[in-house]
Amino acid sequence: MPNYLPSVGMEVHAELATQSKMFCRCPVAFGGEPNTRVCPVCLGLPGTLPVPNRSAVEMVLKTALALNCKIAMTSVFHRKNYFYPDLPKGYQVSQYGETNPLGYDGYLEIPNGDGGTKRVRIRRVHLEEDTGKLMHLPNGGSGVDYNRAGTPLMEIVTEFPPDITNPHESREYLQQLRQILIYLGVCDGKMEEGSLRCEPNISIRPEGTPKYGTKTELKNLNSFRSVQLGVAYEVRRQIAVLETGGVVHQETRGWNEQKEASYLMRLKEEENDYRYFPDPDLAPMVFEEAYIEGLRNSLPELPLAKSLRYQNELGLSEYDAGVLIADREWSKFFEEAVALGGDPKTSCNWMTGDFAKMLNEQGIEPSQSKVTPKHIVDLVKLVEDGTINGKMAKQLFAESYQDGRLPSEIAKSKGASQITDVGQILDVVKKVLAENPDVVAKYKSGNLGVKGFLVGQIMKLSGGRANPGLVQKVLSNELENY
Ligand code: ZN
Ligand code: MN
Repeated sequence: MPNYLPSVGMEVHAELATQSKMFCRCPVAFGGEPNTRVCPVCLGLPGTLPVPNRSAVEMVLKTALALNCKIAMTSVFHRKNYFYPDLPKGYQVSQYGETNPLGYDGYLEIPNGDGGTKRVRIRRVHLEEDTGKLMHLPNGGSGVDYNRAGTPLMEIVTEFPPDITNPHESREYLQQLRQILIYLGVCDGKMEEGSLRCEPNISIRPEGTPKYGTKTELKNLNSFRSVQLGVAYEVRRQIAVLETGGVVHQETRGWNEQKEASYLMRLKEEENDYRYFPDPDLAPMVFEEAYIEGLRNSLPELPLAKSLRYQNELGLSEYDAGVLIADREWSKFFEEAVALGGDPKTSCNWMTGDFAKMLNEQGIEPSQSKVTPKHIVDLVKLVEDGTINGKMAKQLFAESYQDGRLPSEIAKSKGASQITDVGQILDVVKKVLAENPDVVAKYKSGNLGVKGFLVGQIMKLSGGRANPGLVQKVLSNELENY
């Protein structure tokens, strides 16, 4: 059996996080009663005229710039004609052509697993509008909900021949892309709600063959996991087809999440003729150099660059950096803590440990809690300068999380500073040893493991305030001479 090389092209649709729709003032939102966010424009009624949403255009331009694209300084909208009930006008406003899309000829870097990156070329980033949704009614028949119709939609397509050559890379590509969109604030990235949709096309060819194989397109992938599984499944399926003397057909396949298998949706007998033509209702968009440069300069630091900076300049592990940058608010929180003088590694530990756990339990975001970066730094410093030990820090943080007071204020009001006075610690040690003669005897007869129990008793008796290092020292000393 020859070695087969997979090739994966990625087509991603992202609903833009605008307030209103692409060509009318209807609000953009998810769910709700069907057909409650519609108007004559997005219902495609005769005689209406579209007015483009400036902020949607800007979001696509920003994305194109972040994806290292060339910008079409003049760009027009086209009508993509086809008939389907979810498309009220009978055409979708989209952008056609090689150099007409707002962005073209760019690339996205994905991690290559070796601490470096791999470049995935991007063919186009264009602006279009979303369709409505068909729904099966409980009593039979179908209905159509136009709430989503006319939502600004961005399409991002990779270059051919594809740079992505395995299922893992297709997942990495989507993860990187999603993070960039979230960082730019142009899409909420909710795959489960369909605001980010990914349709990979997959082909295989025997090693040494220059010609690319027939590709199949996968739909209904609503998680990173299913993207990776789906692509892997298609590769296996196509190899099995070729190995049994069959032919891979150009078709659209759906993904069955439960069965973890793809199924035939429709055969593509021939390429659809969408009869694209410039939309006569929409004027060409013409951009000035200064405007584009202004947008370029307004771009935030992108996730991959941020992750590498956290690792190289702040000394975090790849894992920690990954956890922090996964959410822009989270990384902003972290950077504020570091700016306030918090040690990066310790601040990160508090955030991804106790803080994250408490937020998770309540199901809230950092900004909805009473803890600010200042609280984290305050706590880190109390431990650093020896005012409190790790155990007290945990208690103080828990209280701080509850009432929003700074850990240092709580420590002060409780007189809860760490006991570092050797004499005071010695008193406690002596008391515990006197109360536990049997344990001391065990220790003396060679069972050194019981020392942990004694440490526990001492910490308990000191109300958790004794400096653990000193406790170890004083206790060892006392046991030697007991
Ligand atoms: Zn509308
Ligand atoms: Mn599209």
